[in-house]
Amino acid sequence: MANDLKEIIDIVRKCKILLLDIEGTTTSISFVKDKLFPYAEENVKKFLESQWDNEDVKEAVIALRKLALEDQEKKVEGVVAIPGENSSKEDQIEGLVNNVKWQMSSDRKEGALKQLQGLIWKQGYENGEIKGHVYDDVMPALEQWRSVDGQKVYIYSSGSVQAQKLLFGQSLAGDLLKFIDGHFDTAVGAKQEVSSYKAIVEKIGCAAEEILFLTDIVKEAEAAKNAGLYAAVVSREGNAPLPEESANSYPVIKTFSQLTASNKRKTEPQEEQPAKVAKTDINDDVKSSTDSSSSLKEKEVEPVKNDSESKNMEVDDESCR
Ligand SMILES: [Mg+2]
Repeated sequence: MANDLKEIIDIVRKCKILLLDIEGTTTSISFVKDKLFPYAEENVKKFLESQWDNEDVKEAVIALRKLALEDQEKKVEGVVAIPGENSSKEDQIEGLVNNVKWQMSSDRKEGALKQLQGLIWKQGYENGEIKGHVYDDVMPALEQWRSVDGQKVYIYSSGSVQAQKLLFGQSLAGDLLKFIDGHFDTAVGAKQEVSSYKAIVEKIGCAAEEILFLTDIVKEAEAAKNAGLYAAVVSREGNAPLPEESANSYPVIKTFSQLTASNKRKTEPQEEQPAKVAKTDINDDVKSSTDSSSSLKEKEVEPVKNDSESKNMEVDDESCR
């Protein structure tokens, strides 16, 4: 397995598709842990009270109630019951809030919970209280992969597709959805299961070896690799230290700008000079995210439609097609 930068850059050049994890990869773990989750928990009561008659909220409540009944049947430890529809609105909301807080304290990833969290976050993004965190190097990399290198970019995260779209649609670097071809969540399976990556390959409709998966979790990289994908491990500031052995098994990158040098070098024969890898985008690393988001907006490239394919390629690269 490739474990140096040159090899991984070659893989990026060869692969048509980049599959990206979010938490710890495009986005700081602390954003999810210290911003998103507390926001949902702090606002769940107020949200339910004000949005009780909203159809989406009603659906989420039905799903949570169904889950609570299943949990009770299975005698899940600590399960919090939700009063039935005939109870007062106040009692139902109190039960729902307690149930949601219990689920969140147990770090559950149930669909019903995510459904309600997603709605709370949506409101937070819409009223400007939340901006999706992305590292400074993410937007330039997406822009290059999509617009210059003609690659496709997909997201695979345990966060729901809806939550993914909110994060990238209203990110610190602006709307990044125009660079993203599709989203996967745990509806395709858990992130450490080989079958999930096989399902993604099938859904995208490509060969496994055409995909490079980037993640901060070695076990996810391993599952992807066992499904035939390429995988690299991302080591971001604030991530947990990587297990010692992973450095030998997978290429480890610190920033996406390490992977965006390829197009500059396509016509250059002297590939063995790592200094050339650093293209000018790399100075984004030292900017604050606010600086970067405003400057990035200014140099917005022509929009790339999500359904577009090779016609958007601006650089000939026979290895990508
Ligand atoms: Mg992650």
